[in-house]
Amino acid sequence: MADVKKYGFVIDPRRCIDCRACLVACRAEWNTPEGQTRIWVHTDGPHGTFPNVAQTWVPAQCHHCETPWCVEACPTGATFKREDGLVLIDSEACIGCGLCVNACPYQVRFRNKETGKADKCSGCYTRVDRGEMPACVATCVGGARLFGDFNDPASTVSQAIKGQTVYRPISENVNTGPMTYYLAPPDAAQVQVTPQPREDLSAEVFWRRWAIPFVKLAVGVTFVGQAGAFILQLLRGENEYEDGAV
Ligand code: SF4
Repeated sequence: MADVKKYGFVIDPRRCIDCRACLVACRAEWNTPEGQTRIWVHTDGPHGTFPNVAQTWVPAQCHHCETPWCVEACPTGATFKREDGLVLIDSEACIGCGLCVNACPYQVRFRNKETGKADKCSGCYTRVDRGEMPACVATCVGGARLFGDFNDPASTVSQAIKGQTVYRPISENVNTGPMTYYLAPPDAAQVQVTPQPREDLSAEVFWRRWAIPFVKLAVGVTFVGQAGAFILQLLRGENEYEDGAV
């Protein structure tokens, strides 16, 4: 078993019965405000032709991507990726700008209406660090949500996808390395979880990469200039400065 963990989810929509106990468990664990949620159960269907009609429910949450666009977009470093793969938010460092919310191609981030800060699934890292499963996984009565270490071949998630046809929610244009594997016919899962790149992402990346560093540089140069002038004034002496100024 590798020392470094690689956490992620395996979702089997065929086992989801839409009881939504996972949503309740998530809100109870994280005190998410009324009307906001960190996880979802998407409804797909009914599809098919009578009498062969079926309905699928597709659990979803942050995919804790391998190359997360939200981390790229965050101007303060508040959003970061742990060594074990979980993408987290340091709420102390978050300024509530919402750039990460717009950057996520899965639209699983939101601005918490009580804190004004970015919010999303944290993989229940506090539970995981205690050796427990995320609340949604521990509560799922059908076993539709699984979580674990993909670097461990004996883990539940590694065993669940072994020899299976899996669907990773990526598209031709978007591949952030989502660490969620769906065990379902692609058509059913694709409907609800295909990533959608945001149109304004380029403007946000421009802001983060160029505008913010430029403003920081300008402020820094101004500060250094002011400090230099102040030190010069001290070295010359107050009187000499005043004489010279008259
Ligand atoms: Fe970030 Fe969205 Fe990927 Fe989660 S799904 S890690 S919020 S880009």
